[in-house]
Amino acid sequence: KSIRCIVKLGGSAITCKTELERINEESLETVSQHLRQAMMVPGSSGGKVLGMDWSKRPGFAETSCGVDDFRDQPALGFNHFIVVHGAGSFGHFQASKSGVHKGSLNQPLVKAGFVATRISVTSLNLEIVRALAREGVPSLGLSPFACGWLTRERNISSADVSTVAKAIDSGFVPVLHGDAVFDASQGCTILSGDVIIRHLAEQLKPEFVVFLTDVLGVYDRPPTEPNAVLLREIEVREDGSWSVVKPALENTNKKVEITVPAHDTTGGMRTKISEAAMIAKLGIDVYIVKVATSHSLRALSGELKDNIPEDWLG
Ligand code: ADP
Repeated sequence: KSIRCIVKLGGSAITCKTELERINEESLETVSQHLRQAMMVPGSSGGKVLGMDWSKRPGFAETSCGVDDFRDQPALGFNHFIVVHGAGSFGHFQASKSGVHKGSLNQPLVKAGFVATRISVTSLNLEIVRALAREGVPSLGLSPFACGWLTRERNISSADVSTVAKAIDSGFVPVLHGDAVFDASQGCTILSGDVIIRHLAEQLKPEFVVFLTDVLGVYDRPPTEPNAVLLREIEVREDGSWSVVKPALENTNKKVEITVPAHDTTGGMRTKISEAAMIAKLGIDVYIVKVATSHSLRALSGELKDNIPEDWLG
């Protein structure tokens, strides 16, 4: 089946990054509603994805009750989406304190960190799946580690997407996440959500990709710095290098270099931009927008394709 969109829910967008293992409930609820709306095929009735409105049945996602209620309902058409989320305050701490990203599984600390990281990221995954299910999105959690995905020198070496494709063909919305995985050269590493997105985009060729994050978009330097300029469009060349087509605001003709801080276990904005650039090179449009805003709903709904308004963010 053709895939409409692969969405990255940034860890910073759905968790409180400074507080250990704390979900940003408000943001998660809004993004789940946005995803439901974006998945619905125009003209399908009543805000339902599965043929019943789960939001009226809050108990459904927690228990198995209610299954009989939609057995005879026709499944409504909806756009096929894949969701990938980052870790934010889940998993980051456990991974960086123990050095899971650097490998050496024979060290007790790394081994313990591997276990702790997986407990943390899979609990976040469960909460996201639950939030989507409450909205009536037939979501299924899929862990890269448990799917047998492997890396070598921290790059994906083997990552079979057949379970993801099968889930989509069966009418589900797969929800993957950044994970701790085995690495052939160093024992283990962290596979970031941004790298997973690129791999899925290469293999499954969605119509477009959306990164939802906690800032308005990509700036020419960390947005906490004074005079940071929000960028409207970044063009990616054949060789993978990129240049800024237009800043969102003024300074149109100024040459802009993007600078990002080198930090965290998976590379932060630097990884995100280079993974996004590789996706764009495949001819797939990528939108990096702030989560839970009207902008993000428009991006998820495909309204921005070939049509980024002039006054965008202006
Ligand atoms: P996520 O968790 O959403 O995947 P990250 O936390 O890894 O994303 O990266 C988003 C953060 O990167 C933002 O909170 C922002 O402060 C920081 N950042 C650093 N440099 C830039 C930049 N040039 N443009 C936008 N954000 C940047």
